[in-house]
Amino acid sequence: MATLRIDLEKCIKAGECYYNHPTLFKVGKDGFPVVLIEKLDTAALREEGQAAADVCPSAAIHYDD
Ligand code: SF4
Repeated sequence: MATLRIDLEKCIKAGECYYNHPTLFKVGKDGFPVVLIEKLDTAALREEGQAAADVCPSAAIHYDD
């Protein structure tokens, strides 16, 4: 199953993930993103997870299929 996680040491809080993919991420109190769905079990979620990883400017989003 595809999984999604964020390397917070790389994240620069650009916000691309939670602005563009609110199904998968939200912003936490500290300004860092929080992953809402870690196990992507549908084709639509996998596609969105890959898209989120592709747009992250610091390559902090790890999508593993
Ligand atoms: S898009 Fe990348 S750098 Fe921006 S908040 Fe999300 S994980 Fe952090």
